[in-house]
Amino acid sequence: MSERSLLMIPGPVEVSPGVLAAFSAPPPGHTAPPLIAAFGEALESMRRVWLAEPSSQPFVVGGGGTAAMDMAVANLVSPGDRVAVVKTGYFSDRMAEMLRRQGAATLEIGAEPGGAPSPEEVREALAAGSASGAGPCRALFATHVDTSTGVRIDPGPLARLAREHGMIAVFDGVCAAAGERFEMAAWDADVYLTASQKALGLPPGLALMVVSKRALAARAARRGTPPPMYLDWEAWLPVMRAYEERRPAYFSTPPTNLVLALAAGLAEIESDGVAARFASHARAAAALRAAWRALGLRLLPARDDLAADTLSALLLPAATAEAAAASPGAGSARADAPAVVARIAEHGVTVATGLLPDLRSRYFRVGHMGWVVGRPDLLRRTVAAVASALRDCGLGAGEQAERQALAALDRLPASGTHYPAGAGAVG
Ligand code: PMP
Repeated sequence: MSERSLLMIPGPVEVSPGVLAAFSAPPPGHTAPPLIAAFGEALESMRRVWLAEPSSQPFVVGGGGTAAMDMAVANLVSPGDRVAVVKTGYFSDRMAEMLRRQGAATLEIGAEPGGAPSPEEVREALAAGSASGAGPCRALFATHVDTSTGVRIDPGPLARLAREHGMIAVFDGVCAAAGERFEMAAWDADVYLTASQKALGLPPGLALMVVSKRALAARAARRGTPPPMYLDWEAWLPVMRAYEERRPAYFSTPPTNLVLALAAGLAEIESDGVAARFASHARAAAALRAAWRALGLRLLPARDDLAADTLSALLLPAATAEAAAASPGAGSARADAPAVVARIAEHGVTVATGLLPDLRSRYFRVGHMGWVVGRPDLLRRTVAAVASALRDCGLGAGEQAERQALAALDRLPASGTHYPAGAGAVG
């Protein structure tokens, strides 16, 4: 059997041996004592990993990131509400579309691909909206890391702005939670949502969020049609409270193996330390950025401080991409980004094509979140595959540059006690 490809897309990601073992247990029932214990531990751990208030409420629901986004929208926004959306790519566009479907009037504050509006620009847009007589915004939605562009916003100042304007602050942390610093309590944010298959390092299938007391009160005060039953926080609250008290409860059957994996994954994160996890993502990302630069690749994010630590969105050199577009089929391989991605796969590593249609031929994306950031050997394998693919496509930077790219990863420590050398299902 051929060696399994190393999964380096921005989710799903490679999972640790401990998470895989928990996930692979025979499925427990939702009333089984081991499931009750895991569920209760996971809920308690989420508050700590989210750096959230003891009064905040975690939710663990079968679904994914999109379900988590829908849940936040359905509980907090009513038809006719005005809502601000900070747009940094495909997933914040999706958030705006959801809000419009909910009947909200959206104030959309965007930027060029690779950019992000500054907090000052958001403040000005809010002021201009109010001055036009449109009324205040009830909530502000933003994407911590937009996976389509690799752009990371700074949620702290936006949360502060929301407080100043009496808005509920909702952050999509799907491509960020547990990989990028997010201090829910210190920043007084209201919802931080994610999915299991990203920096938490689990298989896909869970929608996860921690919700502030203020946001729960906003749901309770809501009048008119309630949210769809599956999305309603009030339907899930008794279930979450029961498991936290180590009692089983039922509203809709939870994906029990994923709950076991969640408890295991969160325990690994806490055993490393949450701050240490943020730091190891930052270290790995910095080393990878140096490697990409050495290979002649450019980041799509316009500035380094906008570049996420959880993935790299990488532009092929512009002149080369234009030449490829002008003479498709030239040479042995077309040197556009999808061709490079296909070549990388032939070298045993799966990375992702771009999500922005206008730039699709020019960029590709490499995920580096969760367990793999403590495995420099796997990061090296990724850089080596990218270097070989570029060479195959006539885009090689030369032997010395390739050596320099790999050397950028030399000083990365293998982190965490649960990373046995050579472990994992990655061959
Ligand atoms: N938001 C962001 C930032 C994402 O990266 C994704 C998934 N790539 C989603 C939302 C949607 O998550 P899912 O695919 O699990 O529905």
